[in-house]
Amino acid sequence: MAKGFGDKATPGTVPPLISGLAHDRPIVEGSKLNVLNELCVGCSYCLMACEDEALLVEGLCEVIEENCTDCLRCLLWCPTGALVYS
Ligand code: SF4
Ligand code: SF4
Repeated sequence: MAKGFGDKATPGTVPPLISGLAHDRPIVEGSKLNVLNELCVGCSYCLMACEDEALLVEGLCEVIEENCTDCLRCLLWCPTGALVYS
């Protein structure tokens, strides 16, 4: 992610998310992070939350599944509900 974007984005610096265990996985077998394209506005807030380089936003958000640890930080930061775990 471009550093400039992080500096300008509305929430400013994303604080460390301290609730729960880092990279703890939800106990839902067979579920994964998905993007609802019709809700994604390409704001890149999810990129600021992800610590695992598991997202790409080029217009719309895409999940790089092999990098995703299911921590769901991004889901908490998406302002439109475009990220779902199902
Ligand atoms: S669930 Fe976690 S690792 Fe996966 S894309 Fe979201 S923030 Fe990144
Ligand atoms: S998934 Fe959500 S946070 Fe990420 S770019 Fe799309 S609208 Fe923004």
